Amino acid sequence: MKQLSILGSTGSIGVSTLEIVAAYPDRFNVVALTAGRNLELFAQQIRQFKPRIAAVAYPEDVPRLQQLCRGLQVEILGGSAGLSAAATATETEMVVAAIVGAAGLVPTAAAIRAGKDIALANKETLVTAGHLFMEMVAEYGVKLYPVDSEHSAIFQSIEGHRNDDISKIILTASGGPFLNTPAEKLASVTVRDALNHPNWSMGRKISIDSATMMNKGLEVIEARWLFDAPVEKIDVNIHPQSIIHSMVEYVDGCVIAQLGSPDMKAPIAYALSYPERIATGVKPLDLTVFSGLTFFKPDTDKFRCLSLAYRAINEGESMPAVMNAANEIAVEFFLEGRIGFLQIAQVIEETMDAHRSHDLKSIDEVLQADLWGRNMAREICCKQVN
Ligand code: NAD
Ligand code: MG
Repeated sequence: MKQLSILGSTGSIGVSTLEIVAAYPDRFNVVALTAGRNLELFAQQIRQFKPRIAAVAYPEDVPRLQQLCRGLQVEILGGSAGLSAAATATETEMVVAAIVGAAGLVPTAAAIRAGKDIALANKETLVTAGHLFMEMVAEYGVKLYPVDSEHSAIFQSIEGHRNDDISKIILTASGGPFLNTPAEKLASVTVRDALNHPNWSMGRKISIDSATMMNKGLEVIEARWLFDAPVEKIDVNIHPQSIIHSMVEYVDGCVIAQLGSPDMKAPIAYALSYPERIATGVKPLDLTVFSGLTFFKPDTDKFRCLSLAYRAINEGESMPAVMNAANEIAVEFFLEGRIGFLQIAQVIEETMDAHRSHDLKSIDEVLQADLWGRNMAREICCKQVN
């Protein structure tokens, strides 16, 4: 029986994870759950999965959650300390890191320090603090399994192969809802248009990241750290059908890819049950129904966020953390209808231009860079609004 803590259980990844857990009661047990603001759903999950610990991000929500959980045997905690307590619970063997954004940094780092294996969906942790995370993973001897579908595909395509024999990692990207929208129309797209992803159903922030293609930029940085690959060896191919989830090219010219119907339950289950495979209910892939699988290069003039992510990783040090923070703020402003779609990239670029990159030696220093990026981006957004 694998003992799990699930951080961000009310989100898109969290809910899919719990569906797998519910299907395998003899295999997985939930020790702790954490959530942000959706207290009703959170209380339902607590009722169903009976965790020993349940933690909410905001301490002021504790009384309301206690009320919703009256009569249940559960320790209810709040705030950063509560999230970290959930991530480090004694019995927990694996932590599913499915909080969105840099908010996942502290509890995920705490889990690694407590020797827990990690199933990582929260890519922002590697974007902001990849070097520190990979050092901690080695130091504490924990396993880090990717949940992001592209990284799970790469993980599956490198198994049994030598790292030195890899010549290229090819991340596939659907291209998002605006793949075929003319560049001059992007200025006037709405929040609803941007949330309407053609192939995947996901949380709001990552859906906007997919529309700007910042998501792919974050994934290039995620791959750089997860697979210890120089960024020059990581390519992005647009593949609108989202059937090949990523590929690895080897020095002999062979390419190994992983295919499947686009459903996050497959990569989540693989991270949970590795090295075994378990049935997930994911629709079997029938390649005969596709008229063709297509691939082409991304248009980085149209999707500037992707170039900004390459710039951030090339400048290194604190720049990716600042870029990520600026993106989180710009996406928030866009979702609130306060800035336009094209202003997302502008805000990120201006924030990066204003930043002098410096070395980050600790998670605290990452959090400071994150805060600097948020404040600067907020200032720039407010100027754009006025
Ligand atoms: P989501 O918005 O649906 O869920 C996020 C979860 O985090 C929720 O439980 C929410 O309550 C919690 N949360 C939000 N803000 C918080 C805060 N400040 N502190 C603590 N908890 C907070 O997001 P999602 O789509 O499930 O994505 C989660 C992570 O997984 C993201 O990093 C995303 O990039 C990554 N990811 C998601 C998908 C997907 O298909 N949804 C695919 C690949 C990777
Ligand atoms: Mg992905």
